Amino acid sequence: MKEEAQTDKSGFIILPNHERYDEKRKVWNNLIDRYPAAIFECLSEADVISAVSFAKKEKMDISVRSGGHHLAGTAVCEEGVMLDLSKMNSVTIDKERQVATVEAGAMLGDIDSETQKFGLATPTGTVSETGIGGLALGGGFGYLRGKYGLTCDNILSAKMVTADGKLIKVSNDEHTDLFWAIRGGGGNFGVVTSFELQLYPVGPNVMAIDIMYDYKDAKEIFQKLDDYMNNAPDEISVNSIIMQLPPAPFLPESMHGKRVIAVSGMYTGELTHETEKAFIEPLQELAIPLMDNTGKTAYTDLQKKLDQMVPQGAEIVGTSLFFKELDEAMLNIIFESMENSPLPMAMAQIWMLNGRMNRVSADETAFAVRDARFLVLFDGEIVSGDPVGSQEWMDSVYNQLLPYSYQKTSYLNGVKLGEEITRNTYGDNYFKLAKIKRVYDPENLFCYNHNIAPE
Ligand SMILES: Cc1cc2nc3c(=O)[nH]c(=O)nc-3n(C[C@H](O)[C@H](O)[C@H](O)COP(=O)(O)OP(=O)(O)OC[C@H]3O[C@@H](n4cnc5c(N)ncnc54)[C@H](O)[C@@H]3O)c2cc1C
Repeated sequence: MKEEAQTDKSGFIILPNHERYDEKRKVWNNLIDRYPAAIFECLSEADVISAVSFAKKEKMDISVRSGGHHLAGTAVCEEGVMLDLSKMNSVTIDKERQVATVEAGAMLGDIDSETQKFGLATPTGTVSETGIGGLALGGGFGYLRGKYGLTCDNILSAKMVTADGKLIKVSNDEHTDLFWAIRGGGGNFGVVTSFELQLYPVGPNVMAIDIMYDYKDAKEIFQKLDDYMNNAPDEISVNSIIMQLPPAPFLPESMHGKRVIAVSGMYTGELTHETEKAFIEPLQELAIPLMDNTGKTAYTDLQKKLDQMVPQGAEIVGTSLFFKELDEAMLNIIFESMENSPLPMAMAQIWMLNGRMNRVSADETAFAVRDARFLVLFDGEIVSGDPVGSQEWMDSVYNQLLPYSYQKTSYLNGVKLGEEITRNTYGDNYFKLAKIKRVYDPENLFCYNHNIAPE
């Protein structure tokens, strides 16, 4: 690799004096302000090997950026070597095998647009501009989760560069311990350069659920949603968001600033009159809707629908916990937190978990949280100039909700770093992960993540 130069085969090494250094060290969360010693902008597996070998030789920490979307900004390190994979973003489809080979720097939208050319899709997330690398290694919750599981459940194999600079393939046949570990274990074990992901026939049009309710009906809505999910089929995946609407031009002016509950989701498969009545209409009758745009939509449009709501260049704090019940006391904490939030644009999301993702046993992959029924995510922009106070407020929401949570587990892709959070979430899988970490990364080069210390 060359500094300030590029050949056909190699990427750039960007040092702190380079004109693109500040742009390249930025990640989605603008609160993160770290200064790597060098940024390797990789174009190939050979570049990744060079970067890892250099860091190992120099005994420097490594951070890996695929999409740069992790809330904690773990893609960028302080003083170490940052690997930027954003230009390794190709997606190729094997239609016969129904498999996509996806380079780790691809965005979810890159995957959907290629797979949909063949009427296929793989479970990813709900915002097309998120990176696949971190999302897949840490879980991956999208609208196909009920029917086809999490993104990590659909990794068939991955190519990765380990801490000793070797390129290996992991799958059910090769390096099976690592294959188990990367399905939920995050970036602890090496740099994934590409994934093979299972595809399924989806679309081109799907039934998209898109309803907005008045927040005043919150109690009734969540009680009905809880009952509904008890009998929901795998085909349905439902998310809800409590938020105050922004003064956005795509919303009617009368709705600006209004606190609402948005219920969104998808039905995967053919709907009959009976299934529509049984599974779509109840979601439209949780209360009297303010807006209801439920209907057939192109899958690729559904996957991009939330993009416009995502803040860009904002300073964000957030947290996450899994739950088994929508307990009244737990809901009251969420409601009160939202009503009294000091953060501008605060959001509380409650995602319903059902179907295939919950039928995988806790020890089948590193992703251990399999029988929770709800995922709660809180996010918001910081109070201007007060990151510390904003984080303290977010921590207080987490601490209030913790006693009601499912075994104190969090979605690691949506929570700040913390040893206790990591251990609680992996549960019994933590010990196996620590053993695998000792084999593949004994010096803990890959430490910018929800870190698993080598045993
Ligand atoms: C706007 C927005 C919407 C989101 N929506 C969803 C959603 O619908 N569903 C969902 O499940 N999650 C969602 N998330 C959370 C998302 O899963 C995480 O932000 C995830 O980290 C994104 O992956 P990334 O590649 O962009 O992460 P990055 O920030 O690039 O990486 C995060 C970490 O993952 C590891 N990592 C990343 N790439 C590699 C690699 N190639 N090899 C080894 N380790 C690697 C590293 O430890 C890195 O520090 C959303 C996040 C945002 C900001």
